[in-house]
Amino acid sequence: MHTCPWCTTSYVNWQSLCQQCGGPLAPLMGQELGPEPPPAPRKLPKVYVQRVRWTQNIATMVGPGFVVVGLLFAIPMIVNKLWLPLLAPGFFVLGGISMFRYGWKIAEARLRAFRIGKAVKGSIYQVGSDTSQHVNGRYPSRVVYHFAVDGQRQEGIITTFDTTAARLFAGQPVWVLYNEAEPTENAIYPPLS
Ligand SMILES: [Zn+2]
Repeated sequence: MHTCPWCTTSYVNWQSLCQQCGGPLAPLMGQELGPEPPPAPRKLPKVYVQRVRWTQNIATMVGPGFVVVGLLFAIPMIVNKLWLPLLAPGFFVLGGISMFRYGWKIAEARLRAFRIGKAVKGSIYQVGSDTSQHVNGRYPSRVVYHFAVDGQRQEGIITTFDTTAARLFAGQPVWVLYNEAEPTENAIYPPLS
């Protein structure tokens, strides 16, 4: 099975472009590099933007929930002028807001790399499991890649549950997109879902 990293449509037979969203699929093992990313600015599949901002983004999904829960507790306290107990739901609200802002910032940085990033050839440095976190008993893959900006080595790290990450191997060449104004905003192309 080959899964489109942009919209998660699965295909039995590999193809270079997803029929559903038009995004390129990752090259097959043994293929050197996929086709070069199109020139910036790039248009991203809408479904991918939604996934990066929301459905795959724990912080932007959970943050607003904290705000709502905090407000549900806070409003009756405000109505009854209970100022001191307001601290606890207040922390919830503030925590939820900063969580959301963090998630949004990460999402926009990633999307910027895809939209306006400069394309360079990089390589996979390391593929392993991230044992510091797990969801439903599964560890995500941790993929480290290197690329050069003005002769200086830069590193990017992706933590993902995309099983295609396990097909990557150290030394494999990959396309990397990075924001020239801020090279820490980078991504491999095509993405890992
Ligand atoms: Zn797709």
